[in-house]
Amino acid sequence: MIDLRSDTVTKPTEAMRKAAYQAEVGDDVYGEDPTINRLEELAAEKLGKEAALFVTSGTQGNQIAVLTHCKPADEVIMEANAHIFVYEGAAMSALAGIQPKTIDGDRGAMDPKQVASAIRPEDIHFPETGLISLENTHNKAGGTVVPLENMKAIKKVANQYKIPVHLDGARIFNAAVAMNEPVHKIAEQVDTVQFCLSKGLGAPVGSILAGPKEFIERARKWRKRLGGGLRQAGMIAAPGIIALNEMPNRLQEDHNHAKRLAEGLGNIDGIEIESEVETNMVLVSVENLGLTSEQFIEKLEKAGIKSGSYGTHSVRLVTNYDVSKEDIETVISKVNQLFK
Ligand SMILES: *Cc1c(COP(=O)(O)O)cnc(C)c1O
Repeated sequence: MIDLRSDTVTKPTEAMRKAAYQAEVGDDVYGEDPTINRLEELAAEKLGKEAALFVTSGTQGNQIAVLTHCKPADEVIMEANAHIFVYEGAAMSALAGIQPKTIDGDRGAMDPKQVASAIRPEDIHFPETGLISLENTHNKAGGTVVPLENMKAIKKVANQYKIPVHLDGARIFNAAVAMNEPVHKIAEQVDTVQFCLSKGLGAPVGSILAGPKEFIERARKWRKRLGGGLRQAGMIAAPGIIALNEMPNRLQEDHNHAKRLAEGLGNIDGIEIESEVETNMVLVSVENLGLTSEQFIEKLEKAGIKSGSYGTHSVRLVTNYDVSKEDIETVISKVNQLFK
């Protein structure tokens, strides 16, 4: 099976498994797990932030950010297809008592002028704007890179109104590679960042939330309230250290594979590439094949290829560490055979 459903499907490497086995551990709720402490310090350093917190998932990291930045009845500004709006089960409403305010983006980027006009003035009728949330790379737009200038312009608006900015940087390392910038250059544009160790970086579990020291202290308490205070968690942090040190450098390979895949699939009659490939995702429309995404996915699955539905006729294929150059050629030739 060639699994292109997501970059979350990557299995830990041999080195990660050994590191987990050998990890030095302690009780992290007491702050005594040396491996967790090392991962948090390393992550903060890489992102250029004062402090970082290991969390169980990207969703938990984003939600802890919302809970820590906001109070109930606040409004959070976000892009209309943001993961935090579409794919987190309305957690911000359920847990933080937040009302989302969405803005349609262009390849995942919100217009700073629209962000400015979405900020609520003081009025007895209105909610208060508590946070602006960005996403880079933008998942639903097709792994698109939100330009640094766009992030900068939004941060400038946010500063004028003294509103914090959070980045859902689940794939911030893919964005950094695509921009050819160090990851801290992206993180610098926002107050807090969440990124996933368990996607393209290949770790088995976990995400990082990073930001100012005082913010991370309050976030740590929210993590505990949510039941996310872990004990000998060095076992899962040790692979995360390898993910952070060794895996960002190989993401370009995933991006090259995605470009090649889009080129190969785009040449097949009836398959349209929906979004120019910038990182590790390929979105295709199969409408002109006369198929729904579910029907297309089923045909591919029978040919040994897994992909994911992204709408009625939209299918997403994500390259990752466990998919080789040869696998990509196999996928292209099998899809060709199916639909020629
Ligand atoms: C995957 C993802 C998340 C959530 O991560 P989980 O670990 O699956 O909870 C958040 N934001 C974006 C953009 C993602 O792609």
